[in-house]
Amino acid sequence: MAKWKIRKEIEIEWEDEFDSAHFLFFDYESKCRRLHGHNWNVKVVIRGFVNRNGVVFDFNHLKEIVKEFDHRTFIPKRAIKEITGDGWLVAETSHGEMLKLRRANVVIIPYDNVTSEFLAQYWVERIIEKDEGNLTYVKVCIEEDPRSKACVEAIKE
Ligand SMILES: [Zn+2]
Repeated sequence: MAKWKIRKEIEIEWEDEFDSAHFLFFDYESKCRRLHGHNWNVKVVIRGFVNRNGVVFDFNHLKEIVKEFDHRTFIPKRAIKEITGDGWLVAETSHGEMLKLRRANVVIIPYDNVTSEFLAQYWVERIIEKDEGNLTYVKVCIEEDPRSKACVEAIKE
């Protein structure tokens, strides 16, 4: 008679999308340097143990990030020229174009470039911030379109 052991570490998955604009810094000519948008897809895998509420992670934390990202323009830290006291942000693209956007319509990405790689890393950091001590593993994949994706993993040491 086989003996089974039910593992207490549980894996949860979640997926959503957001429509946002970005531009990239490249040191060679590329259409990606122009301001443009994507229908981004985000896939999250989290492993851990259930907390006092019986869940590994509250998906509402992830929905909040989507709400923060959706229909906004991503600006990397290096592009910011000015944030005015009356709610405007001025940014410069890698083509030297100046954008003046409402600060509330911008998401500042704390990296030098808004690539899928860095967005996935940023998502991982935002999830880890909410760890109540019960998480063991986080993986986030970001897709600009269905043909390409970047995944970042984090394992608790
Ligand atoms: Zn793009």
